Amino acid sequence: MISVEEAKKLIVETAKSLPPVQLEISKTLNQVLAETVFSPIDYPPFDQSAMDGFVVFHSDILEQKAIDIIGEAPAGNPFKGKISKGQSVQIFTGAKIPEAADTVIIQERVSIEKGKIISDGSPLAKGANIREKGSQIKKGDVALHNGTVLNPGAIGFLAGLGIPSVSVFPKPKVLIIVTGNELQKPGTQLKDGQIYESNSFALKAALESIGIVATRVSNIGDDEGATKESLAFAIADSDVVLVSGGISVGKYDFVGKSLQELQVENIFYKIAQKPGKPIFFGKKNDCLVFGLPGNPASALSCFYEYVCPALQIMQGFTEVFPKKYLPISSDYEKREGLSLFLKGKISGEKVQVLEGQESNNIRSFALADCLIYLPADKGKVEKGEMVEVHLISNR
Ligand code: AMP
Ligand code: MG
Repeated sequence: MISVEEAKKLIVETAKSLPPVQLEISKTLNQVLAETVFSPIDYPPFDQSAMDGFVVFHSDILEQKAIDIIGEAPAGNPFKGKISKGQSVQIFTGAKIPEAADTVIIQERVSIEKGKIISDGSPLAKGANIREKGSQIKKGDVALHNGTVLNPGAIGFLAGLGIPSVSVFPKPKVLIIVTGNELQKPGTQLKDGQIYESNSFALKAALESIGIVATRVSNIGDDEGATKESLAFAIADSDVVLVSGGISVGKYDFVGKSLQELQVENIFYKIAQKPGKPIFFGKKNDCLVFGLPGNPASALSCFYEYVCPALQIMQGFTEVFPKKYLPISSDYEKREGLSLFLKGKISGEKVQVLEGQESNNIRSFALADCLIYLPADKGKVEKGEMVEVHLISNR
């Protein structure tokens, strides 16, 4: 049995980022850039009007002259001629600034009479209301560094530079196997001694919350042959396999034995923690295998604490154990020697331990927005003490 800290260290040492793939930018939300992207163009690509108004010579405005309007320049349709002193062109936001002219006076600051404009005399700086070519980024400059997480702004920025696709770390292919003869699909009638299968639903949803769609869910019973066969197929066909249940040492637990027979390297088995002590983590070729305890709260806790960080490392993320510290809202009795992950709820600036911390209690998880981590060496926690909090929503 190892400690939580040792287990996390082994996750970091074992999980590796997946080989990058080239993807259309519209498919890269929240993915990590695997290359440094350089701008192929100046942006904006030309001197651009920032406002609707008239493009003029600044000196004409200073002299308060009546200035001829000689044409117009809407966005996307540049004025072809050249403007001379004493002349202006009506211009619109986003339009290219015609040659020679140097300033845009906004339409609210002029009066128009007989084809001429006259400034209302408000101060106007030379170059006002013009976005200079390359002012946001110059051709050849770094647009986004390797390792950037592509948020909607980044995707828009890349599109604006005319870049259709980028190299990113892909999403791992994840397969879920559920073991247990007692499990029945929700929506069907329970027979005596049966319960509804819930782990695959929670795990699939947790995966989806971090942008990963499980490629397959297999429900198998407690059958040695089926366990081994499903595991062999899953390991050959995916980057990560999540097996729920059957990882303890009962007569009907076949996962451990099958993993051994399939020569999956045992990186750790059992962590001194509650919930989720009997968790297995192993590796075969490039596939990571998590044997998650069947108890629903244990399975989900282990997902957040170990599976999720591994998946994020594979996707090129670097900060995979985010945490914050908040005062606990009441005393909590704890004995030293065991690490606890408690379902918690943040309200205001405090965190509350929810009722129902048993390994099989998923009800409290339904209300939780975080896990409170109390390390092994910690004894009783006093109200107001700062505790380590791992957010489980919005990750
Ligand atoms: P196991 O790890 O297979 O010994 O299962 C531990 C406990 O979790 C037992 O009470 C199982 O019935 C329950 N359990 C196992 N798998 C699931 C599942 N997929 N959904 C809901 N409960 C489960
Ligand atoms: Mg079982």
